[in-house]
Formats: sequence, structure tokens, C-alpha cells
Amino acid sequence: MTAISGKVVAITGASSGIGEATARLLAERGAAVVLGARRTERLDELAQDIRDRGGRAIACATDVARPEDLERLVDRAVAEFGRLDVLVSNAGIAKIGPMADLDVEGWSAMIDVNLRGVLHGIAAALPVFRRQGRGHLVTTVSTSGLKIVPTQAVYAATKNAVRTFLEGLRQESTDGVLRTTAVSPGFVRTELTDSMDNAHVREQIRRTMDELAIAPEAVARAIAFAIEQPHDVEIGEITIRPTVQG
Ligand code: NDP
Repeated sequence: MTAISGKVVAITGASSGIGEATARLLAERGAAVVLGARRTERLDELAQDIRDRGGRAIACATDVARPEDLERLVDRAVAEFGRLDVLVSNAGIAKIGPMADLDVEGWSAMIDVNLRGVLHGIAAALPVFRRQGRGHLVTTVSTSGLKIVPTQAVYAATKNAVRTFLEGLRQESTDGVLRTTAVSPGFVRTELTDSMDNAHVREQIRRTMDELAIAPEAVARAIAFAIEQPHDVEIGEITIRPTVQG
């Protein structure tokens, strides 16, 4: 038995990278996982693989830009497993590039997924957490928000907005019902570069990733650490980056 065993955890962005690694690790440690993302084939395969290894997992098509999809994700968790203990709001895209590119579409997409997507998750999960008397919100933000670098301004802004409203929610939730955790990864080897439309920036980031990125499993372990604490202990922020990252 682990402290994670028996918990019901919904994860957005579970079809690859950090979300997938988190789903695998939590399921291995005995959680029931509810997997949300848009690429349903990948989700179905992952859910099947977890079940084949003796774990509990279901897939649920989710576009975090749509509030009703988050409601469905949370409803599925409760319908299948009886409750929702943790929502890991992890889905994200990085349409990075110089602001002078005026990529209004990319900016809006990041706001829709990285920022609104997390708010939609809060709106769906909070009533369930309050009804149950406890719950935990984990979000994947970024070290980009801690150190603003060229080409990442709007991406960083979406991540910092999440960090800000999560802290506000924490301040409003001192009755012991809700725990909040913001996890800030640095460079992690995932498919995130696929969402980068600016070819020059994408190649630059890929080179950096090849050079120094850490594995998504490292972030999964950090998320598991926050979840496995007793409910009266809240891990508010975790920064996890390659040791050699500046
Ligand atoms: P991946 O690209 O591997 O994973 C991103 C996940 O988000 C995918 O599962 C994707 O699934 C999902 N996603 C994207 N758009 C939507 C949407 N509209 N609705 C639902 N799901 C969506 O990259 P990572 O694992 O790296 O990214 C996970 C999080 O970590 C992101 O929030 C990212 O910003 C953050 N992060 C990553 C870092 C890194 O270096 N890799 C560093 C710091 C933070 P699908 O396309 O199937 O919908």
C-alpha cells in the first residue's frame, strides 16, 4: 500500500509526455486514473496498457478549451470510481516565438489551453471537492514563468496567470478542503516542441532539449510526491529542472 493507492486522479494532457508519465506512475502506485486529451487513440492505448499491467484506468476525450469537456472528465471519474481526489491540470501548448511575429492566433490558443483550460478544470472539480470535503488541484506551470526569456513571453504569461489564480484560490481555501500544487518543470523531453509553429524557434528548442532535457518521469515523481503527502500537508510549489539548466 502507498499513500497514493486508492486515490482517483484525473489528468489532462495524458496522451503524451508529462501527463502520460504521471498516469503510468500513479497507476503503478495504485491510483485509479482518468485520462483526458484530444488524441483518443493514444489515450485508449495507454488506458489499455495500464489495465493490462493490473492498474485501473479509463480514457475520456477532452479538449480543455471546452468547459463541458472538463465537466465530463470529472463526471466520468465520479461515475466510474465513486469520487475524484486529484485533478492534474497538465494539458498545455507552447506556441512560442518573438512577440514581433504578432502570432495572435497562437497567443489565443495558449490562453485557451494553458489558462482557460485550467480554469475550466477548477470550475468542474471544485464543487465535487467541496461535496467530498477534500480535493487536490495540481497544475503544470513552467520555469518559463520564473525566468522570462525571449520568445516565451506569452507562454510564460499564461503559466504565471495560473500560478497567480492558484495562489488566490489557496488563500480562499483555508478551511482544509482544498490543496493546491503548482509544479514548474524546466526542460523536459516530451512532444511539446511539436506545438511550436515557428520552425527556427522549434529547432533551437529541440537542440536544447537534446542537450539537457530531463525525462518526463522525473516530473511525474514530483507530482506523486505532492499527492502522497497526508491531506493536512500541502506542497504548494515544486520547481524541477535539469541540474545544468541556467
Ligand atoms: P506534450 O506535448 O508531450 O504534452 C502536452 C499534452 O497536452 C498532450 O497530452 C496533449 O494532448 C495535451 N493537450 C494539448 N492541447 C490540448 C487541449 N486543447 N485539450 C486537451 N489536451 C490538450 O508536452 P509536455 O508533456 O511537455 O506538456 C505537459 C505540460 O508541461 C504542459 O502544460 C507544458 O506547458 C508543461 N511544461 C513542459 C515543459 C517541457 O519542457 N516539456 C517545461 C515546462 C512546462 P492532445 O494533443 O492529445 O490533446
